[in-house]
Formats: sequence, C-alpha cells, structure tokens
Amino acid sequence: MSARVFIVEDEPELASVVADYARASGYLPTVFGNGGDALATLRTDIPDMLVLDLMLPGMDGLALCKAVRAFSQVPIIMVTARVEEIDRLLGLDSGADDYLCKPFSPRELMARIKVILRRAQPPGAPPCPCLVDEAAQRISIMGRALELTPSEYHILAGMARRRGQVFSRAQLLDLACQDSLDVTDRAVDSHIKNLRRKIAVLLPDTEAISSVYGLGYRFDL
Ligand code: CA
Repeated sequence: MSARVFIVEDEPELASVVADYARASGYLPTVFGNGGDALATLRTDIPDMLVLDLMLPGMDGLALCKAVRAFSQVPIIMVTARVEEIDRLLGLDSGADDYLCKPFSPRELMARIKVILRRAQPPGAPPCPCLVDEAAQRISIMGRALELTPSEYHILAGMARRRGQVFSRAQLLDLACQDSLDVTDRAVDSHIKNLRRKIAVLLPDTEAISSVYGLGYRFDL
C-alpha cells in the first residue's frame, strides 16, 4: 500500500514540485496551503508522513507540529528557510523527526521520507494484528475491539503507530494528556497495566507491551 504524505506548504509551485516527486516515488501526496486546514484534516485523518514548512500563513509549522504531537506520533519532517532555525527548533523540542533547509532538492526530501518510513515500519515486519481506527477512536486486536478509556486509547494508538520504538513515560504522558492535565508518571504505569490486562484477554500468551528498563515502554505486537 502506498504511504500517504501530507505536504503543508504555502508556496504553490514548491508544493506541486514536491507532490510530483512524491507521486513519482510511489507515495500518495496531499497538499495543504496553510496550517489550519492541515490541522483540521489531521484531527480525523492521519497520514504516514507529514512534511511541514515552518513559515506558513496563520498557524506556523512549529505550532502545527506541537498541536499534532498532542494526538499523533505521525513522522514529521520540518522544512525551514534558514539553517539557523534548525538549531532553534531542536532546542524547542518541536517534536519533528527530521529537519530540512530550503532550498532543498526534492530528491533529498524523498530520501529522508524513505528513511523515516523504513524506520517507522521495518521491512519484512509482519502486519500488526492491532488496528487503530483514528476516526472512531477505537483500537481492535485480531478484529476484536478493546474497551479503552480516552487516555488508554491515546497511549496505545501512539505506541501502535510506532511499534518497536521505546516511549519514555514523559512521551506517554504527552500522548495521554490530550484530555487531562493531571496525569502523573504513576498514572502512566497504571494505564500500561490496564492496557496489558485488556490486551491479554485477547492475546493471553503474548507480551504486547514490554518494559524497557530505565527507559519506558515499547509496543511489540
Ligand atoms: Ca512558507
């Protein structure tokens, strides 16, 4: 299945060149001219990759990146017009996975997308038995829906999008915090415990969520 790439770029010519390259590379691009439109769509439709221009009319790329990170771990490549901006963005912990400076070659961008997508889903990995329905905010395993609280849903959906990747408690807090601000580290552990119990009902012999000593948790299904 082709990876879907959302491109948020207010320069129509650049956006269309990038979209052409993305199509030629086998991806399915969708272009947004501003951050607000992109965010509205992203709330219900998460692509496989997001390419964000930093300077956008209205909501800029940084604000959009942070807003998206409140509910999704979709890989994000941030594009900036100035190389000095990259240091600042790194310092701000923008949440982006990679940065690219303008002017960039579309080939370079495609190469970065490929690397990040490969990292997100290792080649030859068996299909995940866990299905996240973002629109309905439902997660099913082996075709059977899990009964989850909103916090559990956000944690598991975030982990499932990046299975095999270790999440710190702080990152899991960020995932869970969409609905409440008073979630503690201990609460994260208790969410994980509940998730393990609920998943174990459907998959009794599988450790779906591993503890990684000193780091956090990893979703391995
Ligand atoms: Ca721009």
